[in-house]
Amino acid sequence: MAKIFCVANQKGGVGKTTTTVNLAAGLAKVGQRVLMIDLDPQGNATMGSGVDKRKLELTIYDVLLESASVAEARAKSDKLIEGGCSYDILGANRELAGAEVEMVELERREKRLKLALAAVDAEYDFVLIDCPPSLSMLTLNGLCCAHGVIVPMQCEYFALEGLTDLVNTIKQVKANLNDDLQIIGLLRVMFDPRITLQQQVSEQLKAHFGDKVFNTVIPRNVRLAEAPSYGVPGVVFDPQSKGAQAFVTFAQEMVDRIKVM
Ligand code: ATP
Ligand code: MG
Repeated sequence: MAKIFCVANQKGGVGKTTTTVNLAAGLAKVGQRVLMIDLDPQGNATMGSGVDKRKLELTIYDVLLESASVAEARAKSDKLIEGGCSYDILGANRELAGAEVEMVELERREKRLKLALAAVDAEYDFVLIDCPPSLSMLTLNGLCCAHGVIVPMQCEYFALEGLTDLVNTIKQVKANLNDDLQIIGLLRVMFDPRITLQQQVSEQLKAHFGDKVFNTVIPRNVRLAEAPSYGVPGVVFDPQSKGAQAFVTFAQEMVDRIKVM
């Protein structure tokens, strides 16, 4: 059975997409079968995995509106196959922005993704979902089918403040729609140990959330930021870089964590 994780934080630009694609590549590298779902109309995770969002005929949009199955809509990326870290991609593009409105009419609209994923469950070890920077119907669909949420965060002054809304949303979803749901962990990203404030916030996080904070820390690393323009995750673009190595370590940490879930 696949373990399904949302990468979510309603704050924009905190590293959700970078985390999703690099964790997917890292997991593939350590031998896991992975499906990456782009649940953001920006389509950054799609492009960052080497799939051209403008050329996709079927996307997550068609899956949510039940005009295609996951098996029909998923894609593979030549660049990932060449890089030796291949995972399947259920892509997104701007069309997905309309799904929100179109789904309002539908029954059990927050469970659409969950139902669709059941059909491919046995084919994967991990399903990773890149959520948009909002707590919308799209994010809700992700949260309804997930076993856990990975929350990437920068160790900055306002980081903890935004976390309260996310924690409350997760509590509500758990109480009403998905009893399995939990925060599997907070991932410190874009970390720069030379900045005292970041060290302080990192310590606060550990004091407050204990073992909910992942051991792995993702450093600020320019190679991770450069990789999307080549249509691959940093793990494929420059495997020797500090950022790539941190994501492979994180992938192994995830594999170890799900053993005790
Ligand atoms: P959005 O909310 O718009 O979906 P996001 O949370 O998905 O954004 P990303 O797109 O992953 O965030 O990252 C935001 C920017 O920070 C990107 O330009 C990305 O390349 C860069 N970035 C992310 N992680 C790192 C890192 N560890 N080191 C350096 N740059 C990074
Ligand atoms: Mg993103």
